[in-house]
Amino acid sequence: MSDISKKVVIVGGGTGGISVANALAGKLGGSELLVIEPSEKHYYQPYWTLVGGGIVPKEDSARDMKDFIPSGVEWLKDYVESFQPEQNQLTTKSGKVVSYEYLVVAPGIQIDWDKIPGLKETLGKNGVVSNYSYNTVDSTWEAMRDFKGGKAIFTFPNTPIKCAGAPQKVMWLAEEQFRINGVRDQSDVIFATSSAGMFGVEKYKVALTKLADERNIIRHFRHNLVAIDGEKKVATFENLETGDKVEMEFDMIHVTPPMSSPDFIKKSPLANEAGWVDVDKFTTQHTKYENIFSLGDASSLPTSKTGAAIRKEGPVLIENLLAHMKKAELKAKYNGYASCPMVTSRSTCMMIEFDYDGNPMETFPVNQAKERFSMYLVKRFVIPFMYWNFMMRGKF
Ligand code: FAD
Repeated sequence: MSDISKKVVIVGGGTGGISVANALAGKLGGSELLVIEPSEKHYYQPYWTLVGGGIVPKEDSARDMKDFIPSGVEWLKDYVESFQPEQNQLTTKSGKVVSYEYLVVAPGIQIDWDKIPGLKETLGKNGVVSNYSYNTVDSTWEAMRDFKGGKAIFTFPNTPIKCAGAPQKVMWLAEEQFRINGVRDQSDVIFATSSAGMFGVEKYKVALTKLADERNIIRHFRHNLVAIDGEKKVATFENLETGDKVEMEFDMIHVTPPMSSPDFIKKSPLANEAGWVDVDKFTTQHTKYENIFSLGDASSLPTSKTGAAIRKEGPVLIENLLAHMKKAELKAKYNGYASCPMVTSRSTCMMIEFDYDGNPMETFPVNQAKERFSMYLVKRFVIPFMYWNFMMRGKF
């Protein structure tokens, strides 16, 4: 017996869930759908880079969830807690049992703040800041604006994260702000990152390495933040090559926290060994349960976890889900497209775009590894407009 039964149930009302809900409501009619989402607000998270840089107010990134739930679609304000895919059912935190014919899973990625000892206690104080949540993003701008010189560290964890460019976008904006403050000469700007270079795609890695040279960024590659003492202003890193512990003093530190698949996904039968919803990398269909599809940060799709990727995953998922309903072949294929508008200052951006194989997949007829004002305008104005007015209305 179940409390609610729907043809299609969508878990999560973020970028993936809302865009798919709107597109499917147009095809199937709203009454066939249920969205399970606990939050009253929907966040446009790419704005948090600009909020942290003091460019847009954080309120601009948040809108009421109710305005994006398509008409006729039922919204269950609850957390999914477990899945029973053999019975085509799931159970929520409040104990409701929900039955579905088809399931779309899009609950995003989990931020594991507590995996760094000392971080939670000091976040937002002592110069310890992060763009990675609505509640902490203001602290980044305050620290940048008030920086009087010294050591500023920007970290990148040793886990998959959402928007792998964001940990360095904040650094470029801070470095510029320190010049505006007139304190750049008295400052060390340090990128302490688990990764082995400035970016994973060769063309952009070359461009960003050159930029880091020009802007005098101190780089510690293969360094993973493992502890932080806010009062003493000391961050401890593990050198991933040698295993040694390295202490660094700071006056400001922007922490990109470790992340992982949400716990309720990790422990579910939907997860692969790494914890992500186990889907075919081309069709977005679950590898074991044919009536389950997934997209976005919680999925196992081996691409960069971004809203830009979802813009290309969404239409594939919808076409294949509708085909599956008709017992037809799943013909749509996702090619791994992802994009990372790399903001390098308050007037420049490199429009990074690539596919599964790390090949650039550029949209514009110009060299996109070059910093451009036009691309900054695309990041600042065009993409947010498209997000709210098209993608969130199911028009990809
Ligand atoms: P989300 O949009 O995070 O939504 C997940 C939803 O699931 C949430 O609403 C949540 O409340 C809900 N949920 C969670 N648990 C449950 C549960 N148990 N039951 C039901 N619902 C649940 N992307 C870009 O493309 N370009 C950028 O420039 C960019 N910059 C970024 C900068 C920052 C600082 C950050 C944080 C992210 C950035 N991103 C960027 C990444 C982008 O925002 C995410 O990749 C995208 O939002 C992922 O969409 P999603 O639907 O998978 O998850």
